[in-house]
Amino acid sequence: MDIGAAEIDRWHRARGFFGIGYHYVIRRDGKLEEGRPIEQAGAHAQGHNANSIGICLVGGIDDNGKPQNNFTDAQWITLKSLVTSLVHKYKALKTIGHNEVSNKACPSFSVPKWLKNDMNKV
Ligand SMILES: [Zn+2]
Repeated sequence: MDIGAAEIDRWHRARGFFGIGYHYVIRRDGKLEEGRPIEQAGAHAQGHNANSIGICLVGGIDDNGKPQNNFTDAQWITLKSLVTSLVHKYKALKTIGHNEVSNKACPSFSVPKWLKNDMNKV
């Protein structure tokens, strides 16, 4: 699980994308890494890439590949500060989980609950 933007960039290129599909990656240790430049559309949520910012939290599955909310405290802290600054910068932003627009489990937690919890760990 100790991966970041560089590894994901390689995976996504192998899948035929023009490099990493996310704009931001939050590593297990909470370190924020930049992926695709924010001026470019991402490749992270089918049907929503043209007007969204994609944030990837490393982790979120258990040893068997099943969805699991196993993010580190450092990741929650970085996520809160990143989303807070993006919402401040792009006033019209709506913060949602991939699972709200697609039949996916990610991000393995409820983004609405997290928002209600003042963007603290849920
Ligand atoms: Zn997803």
